[in-house]
Amino acid sequence: MSETDVNPPADRPADDTVLTEARGQRIFLDGVTKRYPGQDSAAVDDIRMEIPAGEIVMLVGPSGCGKTTTLKMINRLIEPTSGRILIGDEDVTRKNPDELRRHVGYVIQGAGLFPHLTVAKNIALVPRLLDWDKDRVDARVREMLELVNLDADTYADRYPRELSGGQQQRVGVARALAADPPVLLMDEPFGAVDPITRQRLQDELLRLQEELHKTIVFVTHDFEEAVKLGDRIAILDMGSTIAQYDTPEAILAEPANEFVEGFIGHGAALMQLTLTRVRDVPLHEAAVAHVGDDPAAAAAAAVALGREHVIVLDSSERPLRWLSLRDLRRADALSQVTPDEHLESVSLSSTLNDALDTMLTSSHGVVVVIGRRGRYEGVVRIETVMDAIQRIPAASRDAGRVVR
Ligand code: ADP
Ligand code: MG
Repeated sequence: MSETDVNPPADRPADDTVLTEARGQRIFLDGVTKRYPGQDSAAVDDIRMEIPAGEIVMLVGPSGCGKTTTLKMINRLIEPTSGRILIGDEDVTRKNPDELRRHVGYVIQGAGLFPHLTVAKNIALVPRLLDWDKDRVDARVREMLELVNLDADTYADRYPRELSGGQQQRVGVARALAADPPVLLMDEPFGAVDPITRQRLQDELLRLQEELHKTIVFVTHDFEEAVKLGDRIAILDMGSTIAQYDTPEAILAEPANEFVEGFIGHGAALMQLTLTRVRDVPLHEAAVAHVGDDPAAAAAAAVALGREHVIVLDSSERPLRWLSLRDLRRADALSQVTPDEHLESVSLSSTLNDALDTMLTSSHGVVVVIGRRGRYEGVVRIETVMDAIQRIPAASRDAGRVVR
């Protein structure tokens, strides 16, 4: 089998070195209906939709429209009243539900970790159910923690309550991916964390997906999150009726009806900033210094560039903190530099809207861009964001504006 095979079979035995390789499978909801007992109208009314293999499809819609019910029918936490659901070629409504759920990752708001189990034991749950041997489970736990940017030595033996909300959510993702399922279902997973952490978790999910190519069905009520993460977005009305199902670009350019327009709301212009990634715009160079450099020389270089601050990098090119020209007057300014825990930064897959948000809370009017392995890539300046806004077609800038 060659590297270029798009869809190796999901049940291909994993060897010990490459543990993560089951790519996504197509999901097909074929006329699926859910009627809860005693309810007048169906919670999900005859939904028909194809979710292509390896894509992130976002289900967006108002509260109560049937998003969670739709999602939970895919892993049979809820039994459909009628209709078929296929994952790959298999009708999951005929499969043993416990068996099914071991091959479908599921992430919910607040992560849903077991409080009395350590992080490692939480992640190991499904692999153990699948009878993996102990060495393979241990290796997998470490691999998963690394994948979600948590240091295994530090976090494996902690309990969920000893983690921040964002860290718990990362462990939730690690647990869902542990048995290498081809399909990942996520129900408002980042709804309970603060905006900055949410932005980071979104960026990490995109980075993961570049490596993993799972099929991800992601429920949110936040249209901006849908534009940022989705290859496609399904905008749902009550009863999970599909109002529009298309790429974010197509939905923003041509909303299918008033319901969709209402959902996009007045933020159409800013939404265009959500469509542009940091990696798509020219980055600027900040004045850069390294730990161990001569502060006077670093200051002189910054002045030559017309800058009042330098960004200090460690020996692995990771940004530590900004220093002002004034800070650099100290002879030992660059001999020992403590990392600034609150250094404002975005990643290459962040959106320009994230960059703008971050910039508005930063004291420098610029935001540092971090690439692979935490390396410094450059900075985004406010001018770049303004340029992008200028390029937005006037039509969508006017969308939602009240005309008198
Ligand atoms: P969403 O996730 O979009 O907010 P849900 O799928 O949770 O929507 O709910 C869809 C509809 O089904 C709502 O009217 C809700 O009240 C109803 N519903 C959800 N779960 C149940 C249940 N277990 N029993 C009865 N009605 C339910
Ligand atoms: Mg819900």
